[in-house]
Amino acid sequence: MYGPKDHGWVEVIVGPMYSGKSEELIRRIKRAKIARQKVQVFKPSIDDRYDINDVVSHAGDRTGAIAVKNSNEIIKLVDEDTQVVAIDEVQFFDQEIVKVCKRLADDNKRVICAGLDMDFRGEPFGPTPYLMATAELVDKLQAICMVCGNPATRTQRFINGKPANYSDPVVLVGATESYEARCRKCHIVPGRL
Ligand code: ADP
Ligand code: ZN
Repeated sequence: MYGPKDHGWVEVIVGPMYSGKSEELIRRIKRAKIARQKVQVFKPSIDDRYDINDVVSHAGDRTGAIAVKNSNEIIKLVDEDTQVVAIDEVQFFDQEIVKVCKRLADDNKRVICAGLDMDFRGEPFGPTPYLMATAELVDKLQAICMVCGNPATRTQRFINGKPANYSDPVVLVGATESYEARCRKCHIVPGRL
């Protein structure tokens, strides 16, 4: 996990839900802190599933984070002497996040992003593919398929207990939603061509 000594870089951790992205991000943050590096952690403020000021994994590990409304706030909040910038749930940021990461890396910082590579339809999610293309390092993690036990690469979405339709909006008010890790074969998206 060690990069160039004389300039910054971008590393990206992707995969479906439950693949251990947050766990891996927290692990890298912990190790950077052990190396006595100054680390700042960010996440988008729309993700308030757990705690607005923490990155929390499904297994319960956590680390402090600043919730920001957009990617430019990150530029404003990063201190001059910060060596490592970690960003969780990167798929929820605007496209500008790609430029923000580039700017930070150009400014000699190590940038670690974690996020979903695909949405519930199995299609590229927001800015993540652009980050994957321009990063120095990409780790694509797999979860376990809840149907067949194969490695899972996709996130199955349920609305009121049924597989979400291709045309269902990403944000639904008043519906009970849940998610599951699934392999390609078990990933069901009614209405998908
Ligand atoms: P992500 O950030 O990718 O959503 P997390 O780091 O929050 O993932 O959680 C990973 C943890 O989720 C695993 O270590 C495991 O304890 C738990 N888990 C629950 N369901 C699954 C699954 N289907 N496959 C793998 N891990 C799972
Ligand atoms: Zn499966």
